[in-house]
Amino acid sequence: METVRILDRQFRLYLSESEIQSRIHTIAQQMSKELEGKNPLFVAVLNGAFVFAADLLREMTTPTEISFIKIASYQGTTSTGNVSDIIGLNEDLSGRTVVIVEDIIDSGLSMTHLINSLRRLNPAEIKICALLVKPGNLKVDLDIPYCCFRIPNDFIVGYGLDYDRYGRGLRDIYVVEE
Ligand code: 5GP
Ligand code: MG
Repeated sequence: METVRILDRQFRLYLSESEIQSRIHTIAQQMSKELEGKNPLFVAVLNGAFVFAADLLREMTTPTEISFIKIASYQGTTSTGNVSDIIGLNEDLSGRTVVIVEDIIDSGLSMTHLINSLRRLNPAEIKICALLVKPGNLKVDLDIPYCCFRIPNDFIVGYGLDYDRYGRGLRDIYVVEE
């Protein structure tokens, strides 16, 4: 599909399923090589990263564990950066190589918050793996060793990412039309 309509918006094809899969294959090969023997733990952030995490994990050629988390958001209060903001993490992270698997990094503030929380659980190291990064919007310094695509500051849907809760099941990635 070259274009899709979701609710009140029109979106056009931006990254095809085959481009996405090919890039994930390459990144997974690199990660498998660099994290070989470390028994990495993927910490995938729901909801958006569920499709990416599933494809990435299946391309890994070194034993890799995965856990899915949600970040609790507190409306009207400043986020505390507390470990208790993280829902669903039952693993012992101490001494582990943790790879945060995210769909998209925009300002980078969510990621910074998550890293600060996870650090308190004493992992050996934390690495970031993001499907998409908007370098033009980054407000913090982040080392992102594994990034599939750097994109402009446009709104994206599909492949796990939603527009107002819709569009997550699209196999390709679409960008909003002005
Ligand atoms: P950050 O804290 O990096 O600014 O925000 C990252 C979060 O914003 C992502 O996890 C995602 O929920 C949302 N986000 C940022 N850009 C986009 C986008 O282009 N499309 C969608 N669907 N969500 C986005
Ligand atoms: Mg996300």
